[in-house]
Amino acid sequence: MTWLEELREILGEDQVLTGSSVLDQHSHDFSYHTAHRPDAVVYPANTQQVSRIVQCAQSHRVPVIAFGQGTGVEGHIIPAAGGITIDFTNMDRIIAIRPEDFVVQVEPGITRRALNKALGPYGLFFPVDPGADASLGGMAATNAAGTEALRYGAMRQQVLGLEAVLADGRVVRVGGATMKSSAGYQLTSLFVGSEGTLGLLTELTLKVYGISALTVAARSVFDSVEDAGRAATGMMMQGAAVSRMELMDEQSIAAVNRVEGTSFPVRATLFMEFAGNHRSALLEDLATCRDVAEESGGQEWTAEWDADRRNALWHARHRAALDILAASAGTHPFTTDTAVPLSALPAALRHARDTLTRYGVQGAVLGHVGDGNYHIVMGIDPNNPEQVAQARAVNEAVIHYAWEQGGTCTGEHGIGMGKTRFLREEKGESSQLYWTIKDALDPNHLLNPGKTVPMRD
Ligand SMILES: Cc1cc2nc3c(=O)[nH]c(=O)nc-3n(C[C@H](O)[C@H](O)[C@H](O)COP(=O)(O)OP(=O)(O)OC[C@H]3O[C@@H](n4cnc5c(N)ncnc54)[C@H](O)[C@@H]3O)c2cc1C
Repeated sequence: MTWLEELREILGEDQVLTGSSVLDQHSHDFSYHTAHRPDAVVYPANTQQVSRIVQCAQSHRVPVIAFGQGTGVEGHIIPAAGGITIDFTNMDRIIAIRPEDFVVQVEPGITRRALNKALGPYGLFFPVDPGADASLGGMAATNAAGTEALRYGAMRQQVLGLEAVLADGRVVRVGGATMKSSAGYQLTSLFVGSEGTLGLLTELTLKVYGISALTVAARSVFDSVEDAGRAATGMMMQGAAVSRMELMDEQSIAAVNRVEGTSFPVRATLFMEFAGNHRSALLEDLATCRDVAEESGGQEWTAEWDADRRNALWHARHRAALDILAASAGTHPFTTDTAVPLSALPAALRHARDTLTRYGVQGAVLGHVGDGNYHIVMGIDPNNPEQVAQARAVNEAVIHYAWEQGGTCTGEHGIGMGKTRFLREEKGESSQLYWTIKDALDPNHLLNPGKTVPMRD
């Protein structure tokens, strides 16, 4: 029997697709990386089916690529060597909501918006919010973060336990449902951020949080991204209850105004959010942060308590990357993702802007600056070698700068196929351990081959 025939036997004809439109849809993510089709796309309904798919792939030596919503930005889901893409869309159940434990158990295909919709009636929410409506499986596999990671942490801080199908089809459960555990190696943390290269996540146990009674958003504009960065680090040092601290430069603001019809002043801007249960405490935090902002040249401070207007503000922030691209039709995003220690942030932001000027590249600087993570978003034509080379040069320059400050090449987007070279350089000798782990768990390198751990030279 061929592997396709075996898959049809496991899943049924209608859950094994090989038509060109579905293959195209699974050939690219939200990035400039060159698309490549898988040979088949399959839609399992449960863990047992995932295990049987992997066993089939293993016996025929066919690569297996996990697919959530395809919103990754480093070519993570591109099957560069073909193979079977496992799309987790049909595994999107909420298995249990346990409000008294602040825990939820889900299948990996559920998206963050669907999860939050289900949590709302319990007065709970899940805080990790990459701009896109990503799947929880994809978010766990990339250790995603977003605007609220400042207060709650990234995915690694939220996943208490998980179920994974290993490369030989074994099903393992690691971690648990407690807020703390010192029992043995932290295998949960190993699978989180492993980009589908060590196992396929089939269930997640996640921390959830109570919704604060009061939330207020604030905004302040600055003469430069460096001034805004200085204000951001200053506010963090005050220990205020800031839950979001986002920077958008002039170019990002102009793009959002153009596409969303907003009228924000076209200046480097900090968007902040404060959440708590006591108005007086929030007012105090607002006053402290306003003072700090003004010491760094902040102007036009505004605070927004109304929920609809606050949501409109965060909608604008989340749309920024898409709106920047909308400026030139047909372009794809090349996004840098460096993070530096907080004290190095203001100069790093200036360096990012200067780098764009030096290379003569159009781009916007924005980021989750409260935790030192900033991006340059460049809209490029992947078929234009000069544009690709220039964007790569910008990326390389900001990564080297971040390293000089003790930073990292990726704060939240992950390695995928775009940063394997940088991972090796960043981790030095210890990068050998990545191969040791990969060889132990996936000796034939069939799980998302070439991602995170580069193929051997
Ligand atoms: C407009 C926009 C804004 C964004 N902003 C942010 C941001 O602020 N912060 C941030 O962190 N990211 C951001 N991203 C990137 C992206 O949303 C995240 O990387 C997200 O985690 C990807 O989830 P996904 O479901 O789309 O996964 P996919 O892109 O489908 O997959 C990503 C990786 O996860 C693996 N994977 C998926 N499901 C599983 C599974 N069940 N088991 C094992 N591996 C699996 C895949 O093989 C792949 O390696 C943004 C993207 C867009 C388009």
